[in-house]
Amino acid sequence: MIKVGTNNLGSDPTLVLKNLTVEAEGKTILRNINLKVKSGERVVLFGPNGSGKSTLFKVIMGLDDYKIKKGDIEVDGKSLKKRSIDERVKLGLGYVGQKSVGIKGVTVENLMDQYDFEYENIKKTIDQLNIDELLKRDINYTLSGGEVKRVELFTLSLLDNIHTYLLDELDSGVDLENIGRIAKYLNEVSKEKSIVITTHSGAILKELKVDTAYVILNGEIICKGKPEKVWDCINKQGYEKCLNCEIAEK
Ligand code: ADP
Ligand code: MG
Repeated sequence: MIKVGTNNLGSDPTLVLKNLTVEAEGKTILRNINLKVKSGERVVLFGPNGSGKSTLFKVIMGLDDYKIKKGDIEVDGKSLKKRSIDERVKLGLGYVGQKSVGIKGVTVENLMDQYDFEYENIKKTIDQLNIDELLKRDINYTLSGGEVKRVELFTLSLLDNIHTYLLDELDSGVDLENIGRIAKYLNEVSKEKSIVITTHSGAILKELKVDTAYVILNGEIICKGKPEKVWDCINKQGYEKCLNCEIAEK
């Protein structure tokens, strides 16, 4: 395991978004977002394309040039606003983005060689995610979308201080067999970690256990409720109707 900071698991909640309002290029993209992720909670964030899911994660991680106009993001009670990306990782946030960057000429095994891993400890994860061969390939370079997601989940597992996983569109571009594999893996991981996943298709929910669902539309959280109920409602009525839905926990 690589230690990159302290593990504050157990304090409650791990991640808090308070009235978060965000702009890019003069346009408001996220409006007054309030969300709390408790220690060990599994959260799914539903929203159609362009609703702000990826932006939310990028703002939490400090990626790209988004402007926080109002509100704050806190991890274990500490404001992230003035912190760098690596400080945010040290505080316990792990992120798998919707898009990935390939690195030619470097494999995950090359990176792992620099650390002292107990092979037995990580072998189980390698088997669960079925990535033994992928670790010998250039990082994300010629891997398929689903392969990238599995390798990135594995690299997150090597950082033992990470207590909250932010996983963007984990199921898009992943075949059913591997969605099942990832869900099974995360069900086990979630005994120790908080997890927030975004999805617009909900495919992963057949197998991944989640506690709470939120719906984001036009940059605003418009619903919070039980995942099966919320997904059922979206399927029957579509996202636009979520605004008038009756199941939301106010
Ligand atoms: P989702 O992940 O839910 O599909 P995104 O968070 O990627 O949506 O995008 C939300 C909206 O914000 C989209 O309309 C997108 O075009 C816009 N947006 C995101 N980032 C920027 C940016 N840096 N500059 C301008 N517009 C942006
Ligand atoms: Mg997105």
